[in-house]
Parts: sequence; structure tokens; C-alpha cells
Amino acid sequence: MVNIHLCQPDATKSCAACCGIYNYVENTRPALARRFAYRGSLMAKVRAGTLTLDEYRSAVRHREDGRRIFKTIYSCEFAGFVDESRQRVGCMLHPMVTGGCDMRDVSFYGRDICDGHFCPSYQKLATNEALCVLSCIDDWYLYGSVITDIDFVKSFFRLVQDRLGEEVSPEALKAVPGLARILQNYFSLKVDWPFRDTAKPRFGKYYFVGEEYAVDRIDYERLGADIPPYDSIFLSLSSSFAAKDELDRATATIDNLLKGFCHEYERSHREHH
Ligand code: SF4
Ligand code: SF4
Repeated sequence: MVNIHLCQPDATKSCAACCGIYNYVENTRPALARRFAYRGSLMAKVRAGTLTLDEYRSAVRHREDGRRIFKTIYSCEFAGFVDESRQRVGCMLHPMVTGGCDMRDVSFYGRDICDGHFCPSYQKLATNEALCVLSCIDDWYLYGSVITDIDFVKSFFRLVQDRLGEEVSPEALKAVPGLARILQNYFSLKVDWPFRDTAKPRFGKYYFVGEEYAVDRIDYERLGADIPPYDSIFLSLSSSFAAKDELDRATATIDNLLKGFCHEYERSHREHH
């Protein structure tokens, strides 16, 4: 259980995953940034009194590509950039953004649901895990995909903490830039993993067929391999391996990051004690 505000942790990043921003078929960073820039220009007119919220809604519906990956999950038209510098995403109807007036009642979920929602990351992540994510990522797109993928975060810490024999300290990450960089490289795999399965719509280990979703399974037997220790990471990265050599390359990538992290962590500890 974490006592940190994971949704809007600081000025450099935030998350709006539960408002459905990654659920658009067009969910790359540039596509979402374009969408949010358009919504921002419309919302400025609403604030100036030259557009009503109904007209806002209608403009978004007609102008944007509304196709969703998982149709059962709503993608809210009021999610967008919530700061001038476009570093944070969130709810444009929230009182912190409107300057005091809570307008979330007009939304699909309504104010009470929006206000009371805390995703499972709040329950499942350990405080040190969350603090390490916060100290390494300063980009809304990557942050939202990482902080909501509990398996991806926890697998890393489980594997390195087993090797180190202790909990990874967020202070160590702050003190040793090399450590933070390795962790950042691991998290960045969420956006630049070369073995991503593009054949079907996916969020991490889940894939979707119409209204249904299922958890993927990698057929290691077909590749002539045993289930590797990084299976949960490969699933979080929506992996698909055409042949054994791809699996070997993927394993080596994760291996190098974990070993590099442990090596650097132990070295910095020796220097400080
Ligand atoms: S997915 Fe979780 S961290 Fe992200 S905005 Fe929703 S409740 Fe907050
Ligand atoms: S109204 Fe609710 S679902 Fe929509 S952006 Fe705001 S918090 Fe998210």
C-alpha cells in the first residue's frame, strides 16, 4: 500500500490511464499529444464562455478518432493536458484545473466515481517501488504505462532484491545517477521493446477480442525453451517471439539490465560504507 499520490505526483509527470487514454486505437505519444492539444484549445473556449460543454463534447466526437481497443472501457473526452507546459495529463474538469469549480458531474462516470477511484497500483505497489518509479521517470506517457503495470514494476524489484538480499532504496537511486539510468532503461522498454506483439490489440499481458479479454501465454515449448525467469516481464511487454534466437536476445536484454543494476547498486554501497 502506498501513501503517495500516484495520479499527480509532481510537476513533471502524471497519469490518466484510468480515464482511458491508452485505450484509443491511436494511442502513440504523438497521437495522444495531438488529441490533447485539440481538447485544450476547445476547453479554452469553454472557459472563455464561447463554447458550451455540449458543443465541446460534440466537437470531440466528430473531430477525433474515437475507436477504442477494449470497447467495455470508456475513454473520457475530458482527459487532456492539465498544465501550460503540457507535462501533466489528467482531468480538465477537476477543480485544481478549472480554478475551483468541480465539473466532473457532466462526465460519463460522474464526480463521485472519478473522485473515489484509486487503481490497484495504490494497493499492490510497495512504497520503495513507487518512489523508485517516481524518481526515474519524468514523462507522462511512459509514467502512466509503467505505474499501472504492477507485474512489470514488481518483477524487476523481486528479481533484483532476491539477488541483492535487500530492499532497493530510493535514496540510492537519487545518489547514484547510473542506477537511475539503468532503471529508466528498463522502464523505457514499455515503449521501445522490439519484440512487441503487434498482431492483436494489447495492454501488457492482456489482449482483446471485441468485448472479451484474456491473459496471453507465451508458448516456450514451441520455441524449444523452458519457461524463463523473465516470463512475467515478457508478458507485460506484450512479447511475441518468432524463434528461439529472439527469446535469447530478449533474455539477454533483461539479464544485462538486472545484472548491471545489481552490480552498480553493490558498488555504490561498498563506496558508501
Ligand atoms: S490509473 Fe491509477 S495512478 Fe493512474 S490516474 Fe488512475 S488511479 Fe491514478
Ligand atoms: S471526468 Fe473522470 S474519467 Fe473523465 S477525465 Fe475527468 S476524472 Fe477522468
